Amino acid sequence: MVQVIEWVNPGEDEIIWRYPNEVIKWGAQLIVHEYEVAVFMRDGKIYDVLGPGRHTLTTQNLPLLYKLVGGSNSPFKATVIFVSMKQFQGRYGGETQTRELAPIKYYGVYWFKVADPVLFITEVVGGQSLYDAQDVTKFIRAYFNEGMMKHLSTYSIVDLFQNLDMVSTQVKVKLMEDFRRLGLELVDVKIEGVNTTDEWRQRLFWLMQTGNAQAVMQMDTVKQVAAELGKSPGAGMGTGMVLVPQLFQQPAQPAQPVQQAPAQPYAAPPAPQQAAPAQTGQQEICPYCGKPIPPGARFCPYCGHEIKRCPNGHIVPEGAKFCPVCGAKIE
Ligand SMILES: [Zn+2]
Ligand SMILES: [Zn+2]
Repeated sequence: MVQVIEWVNPGEDEIIWRYPNEVIKWGAQLIVHEYEVAVFMRDGKIYDVLGPGRHTLTTQNLPLLYKLVGGSNSPFKATVIFVSMKQFQGRYGGETQTRELAPIKYYGVYWFKVADPVLFITEVVGGQSLYDAQDVTKFIRAYFNEGMMKHLSTYSIVDLFQNLDMVSTQVKVKLMEDFRRLGLELVDVKIEGVNTTDEWRQRLFWLMQTGNAQAVMQMDTVKQVAAELGKSPGAGMGTGMVLVPQLFQQPAQPAQPVQQAPAQPYAAPPAPQQAAPAQTGQQEICPYCGKPIPPGARFCPYCGHEIKRCPNGHIVPEGAKFCPVCGAKIE
């Protein structure tokens, strides 16, 4: 009986399949379907590779193995691994930290395919001793996730929430390079969502409003940031969290060094016309003039600026693509 070597009914997520019989006879029929390659290995080394078609195994189409096993017609030992060259979709999700150590969660989809079967077998299958389709799939997913965590952690939380498109593109390029080293082509990556804790979402909001990352990061709590901003509307924050409102109340005079003032200079925003009342925790503040505004206001009654809101009613900075509080997309 003629030996038939064929990958029958590959599963939807199966990237590789190993022919279970390692004893191969010359004259065997090798059937390689479209979008498949058959790789002949022995002792972890790749010998011959055959593309789609129906092949009768001869000393001609397996020249490297033939050289190894010699001229006899007796069966020889080899591992046949089929590799699917189709495109696969994978889902990912994980947790990492931003550059400021803000915890973030992310998830999305990616698409990949084998680009170089020999490199892929060498790096993934042979290198990791994974001969099972599921193990290979798992390995790729873990590898992708690891890369995602590594690359995302080099960004700031503001970039992740405000420039997600840019971050996606840059991370995609880096991951594509990672994948190429495995003989894989990463066709596309989509980051569907990024999230962080409530505390960090609020901190992010203040970060984007004040632009003073150092100050916001040094505040113990977000409520403290809000309270300090509320006490002195429009005031920037100096190093070490010391607010010096008197500097801003005399805008006509050049800023003189004030005793015990913060050592580092900072930009002084326009002086407020009047001090705002002390803020309660829930009070909304106009991000443009710093004054308290009625809950849900669409325009600031003090400066007239339009207050942009996300679908859930949170105040969002101008130009933001995502709400810094709830992550909702801004249309
Ligand atoms: Zn205002
Ligand atoms: Zn929101």
